[in-house]
Amino acid sequence: MVAGLIFGMLSSISVERRTKPISVLCTDTRVEIPAIVGMIEDTLERMRRYSERENLNVSVHLLKPPPTDTFWVNLIGRGYPPPNRHFRWCTQRMKIDPVNQFVERTLGRTGQAILHLGARRGESSSRSQTLAGIELKNGLRRHPDLPRVDVSNPIEHLTTEQVWAYLLQNAPPWGGSNQELYRLYRDAGGGECPIHIDTSTPSCGNSRFGCWTCTVVERDKASEGLMANGDERMESMLEFRELLLEVQNPDNGWRDTRRMNGTEGNGPIIMKGRKMLLKELLKLQDASKMKLISDEELLLIQQYWKSAREPDDGRGVARIVNAHSGLPMHDLRNTARLRKLEAEVAQEKGLSPETLQRLVSKVEEFSENNRAHGLLAELTKILQDDLKDNSPQEAA
Ligand code: SF4
Repeated sequence: MVAGLIFGMLSSISVERRTKPISVLCTDTRVEIPAIVGMIEDTLERMRRYSERENLNVSVHLLKPPPTDTFWVNLIGRGYPPPNRHFRWCTQRMKIDPVNQFVERTLGRTGQAILHLGARRGESSSRSQTLAGIELKNGLRRHPDLPRVDVSNPIEHLTTEQVWAYLLQNAPPWGGSNQELYRLYRDAGGGECPIHIDTSTPSCGNSRFGCWTCTVVERDKASEGLMANGDERMESMLEFRELLLEVQNPDNGWRDTRRMNGTEGNGPIIMKGRKMLLKELLKLQDASKMKLISDEELLLIQQYWKSAREPDDGRGVARIVNAHSGLPMHDLRNTARLRKLEAEVAQEKGLSPETLQRLVSKVEEFSENNRAHGLLAELTKILQDDLKDNSPQEAA
């Protein structure tokens, strides 16, 4: 509705007055419900063509998290447990950061922008509280993270019924009708999942279209609704989601009993669990004939496995992928020669070979991501694990 109003406003003014660059932003977490992905891509393409035809000066962008921040790399690679209300590591990485990074890149050092969002008070009581709690200046709110960005919420006081009444009475300016959108929402029996700018409101999976992997909500009503209305793809995806819930529960033995920082408590998914999840994901990918995980993500997962607490030999991912899909995936390094060299250096430095391997992999992981911040802390954690595992009490 907000995009339609902006396109309508632009059409109503002369070409000479359309001087401000306008971008339509949409995020695809790479684990979106398939029916939504299709509709989003189609709509964005229509918007792009309409803007070109009518000289509206609108650019259209489908933003995705980089491979290092995707659901699979964090879950299967780093071993983050499937997200819940207390550890919701996904929204910031997969939805908020891609938008913030795009805005920062586009604005440069001095630019300013207004972000028009479709957030409404009627969506939930916490969203209503958030919107009511932020001070308004000239009808705009400050963006929580971006200093030169203001936020406008032009439809914040409309009810869901009013939004649908508008959409069903007004065809989108870029063509087509909103009937298909209406059908999709009706089938899913849910609400909506707008662009997020903060994590203070409940998950966008809460009776809205969230990720099909979302374990923050108890039930994924949107996926269930789509399945009940004939979208067969959702059946096996919902089964995989059940598996994620099983892994999330520490009582089921898939979680380390030490946290990532080394303290006692519910920790990351153990290596056996990560391998099981990758196998099941590849099975789902084969069965659904949908590309669910990219080769780049697989390589990153391998990288994380090498520096995990129970490190893999550097070929675990390739073995699983080859066994499943016959997709060639080779570790180009000469593993045997490297292992020999590592064993020698480890002995010289008084470390276990596994610890040295984890240290090296951690450095590789950081250098592949072109960052150094936090590396020292990560290396210290690995050395602390080594001290604990090889302490005199344990040796005795
Ligand atoms: S829908 Fe769920 S999994 Fe996806 S970003 Fe939102 S909270 Fe995370």
